[in-house]
Amino acid sequence: FAALERDDPEIATVLLDELARQRETLQLVASESFTSPAVLAALGSTLANKYAEGYPGNRYYGGCVQADRAEQLAIERARDLFGAEHANVQPHSGASANLAAYAALAEPGDPVLAMGLPHGGHLTHGSRANFSGKWFHPIAYRVDPATEEIDYDEVRDLALAHRPKLIICGSASYPRLIDFALFREIADEVGAYLMVDAAHVIGLVAGRAVPSPVPYADVVTCTTHKALRGPRGGMILCRADLARRIDKAVFPFAQGGPMMHTVAAKAVALREASLPGFQRYAQQAVRNARALASWLAAEGIRPVTGGTDTHLALLDVRELGVCGREVEARCARAGIALNKNAIPYDPERPAEASGVRVGTPSVTSQGMGEDEMRRIAGLIGAAARSDPSAPGGASGLDEVSAEVSELVRQFPVYREQEV
Ligand code: PLP
Repeated sequence: FAALERDDPEIATVLLDELARQRETLQLVASESFTSPAVLAALGSTLANKYAEGYPGNRYYGGCVQADRAEQLAIERARDLFGAEHANVQPHSGASANLAAYAALAEPGDPVLAMGLPHGGHLTHGSRANFSGKWFHPIAYRVDPATEEIDYDEVRDLALAHRPKLIICGSASYPRLIDFALFREIADEVGAYLMVDAAHVIGLVAGRAVPSPVPYADVVTCTTHKALRGPRGGMILCRADLARRIDKAVFPFAQGGPMMHTVAAKAVALREASLPGFQRYAQQAVRNARALASWLAAEGIRPVTGGTDTHLALLDVRELGVCGREVEARCARAGIALNKNAIPYDPERPAEASGVRVGTPSVTSQGMGEDEMRRIAGLIGAAARSDPSAPGGASGLDEVSAEVSELVRQFPVYREQEV
């Protein structure tokens, strides 16, 4: 870091300020967690200099001995951790992993059945703004309006009516377990491939906190930077008979050279995720999310589906008389980072949204437990109710802010870290 401070003080300051933000405020964005200093060290390593197009033992560049060793370790660790026959650790992100999976399993124009974006699907599950909706024929399934849980009857009906080439499940905001066995059954009924986008839950799967999709899916795509606590990136797990197609779809179809420093950091994170402490973290993240959802319900903020089975809760904030965007902004002023999110059948535009999403991987990594979730629910409730346009401004926000600072001070992160 001394070199950065000397050579580029402007960026050095940005990094120090970001470290301070992560240490001094509350991180409740459900797609984030805190990577270990070992992961950060691999990311900031000289493997960043290396071109290694191809795969271990079969590269298009010389000097790949160390790149091969790093990638082989990442592949073996991924296969062992998830009991998968094949792993591709090169996708630059979850979206690139999904692009490659589509390319391996379907042709442009093919019907693809996936959860609709307003119901919890990701952009890559058929949004018109994305390759998935532009180049494929998207069919969207929804949640049941009463239970807010996936309507499996509708999934089956749509599958029978449209005979999709590919069925996708997995979500960015669905708080309940997904019945992978039932999705497998439906896919088999219509001769479709089943792809599980486990971007959000793969860390919980690694920590044995939720059931694994690997035995059911033809292909599992995921990110490595959410609850899995690795570097920003993607990964694909699949059966051996699809390995060649998946590898060719990642490189050369979707990407060029892999980011070898990131691949090394993925290997580090995958080793960490195989240790017993990781299971404790993943299971506590779920207990914390359940506690947070129920304490937020007590604050008058309704958890969609009534609660959660995972690390996240989706909250309907309409009772507060403000939209999700405003709750996000009020919480940000109090030092609480979370994000606005559409809820199923949301009457608001996505930019406003009737909900917010909260997640517990970061606070659980800090060592917080259910007692702290009760405090956090109270802080979110107070921040969400503070009205900056009321006479006297956002009454109570200073106290909330002070309590947030006090709470995070008790659970320090990156104590030894400079950036
Ligand atoms: N799939 C799901 C379900 C996600 O939640 C996300 C990211 O939020 C992605 C895919 C895309 O991941 P990335 O942002 O790394 O492209």
